[in-house]
Amino acid sequence: MSTRNLENLAEMKCKEDESKPRPEILPETEGFWKAAARHELAVQCCGSCGQNMHFPRLLCHRCLSDQLTWKNTSGHGVIYSYTIIRQAADKRFAGDVPYVYAIVELEEGVRMISNVININPSEVRIGMDVQVVFKDLSEELSIPMFEPTERRRM
Ligand SMILES: [Zn+2]
Repeated sequence: MSTRNLENLAEMKCKEDESKPRPEILPETEGFWKAAARHELAVQCCGSCGQNMHFPRLLCHRCLSDQLTWKNTSGHGVIYSYTIIRQAADKRFAGDVPYVYAIVELEEGVRMISNVININPSEVRIGMDVQVVFKDLSEELSIPMFEPTERRRM
């Protein structure tokens, strides 16, 4: 392969990353993304009944109160379930396969969908302890992901 072709490949790879879909920031999700930009993993908490929630909502799913605030979590949890994506449904993710798409149950009792990284996908297991890490896409946008951690004593 010529040097010119390699340059084209590198350019294509870069454009591929830039073209990946980005989260849409909505009024109810703004607090989550602002916290993530600070490398904090926040969930909503109901000021009326104390329920922790994720995904973000405009009303509490338990008591329908709109008195919702944000609170930072420990960022620790366990893998509740997962699958390994081996074939990208969207070509913009073709360079990422295989990757782990997981439901993580945080210590605070809420479940969150994300990727588990920094591990061979074949080594991921349900119940594995994980902690949040942040993938910075820009100064304003960081994506919370999870990586394996040592088992914590509670
Ligand atoms: Zn509530």
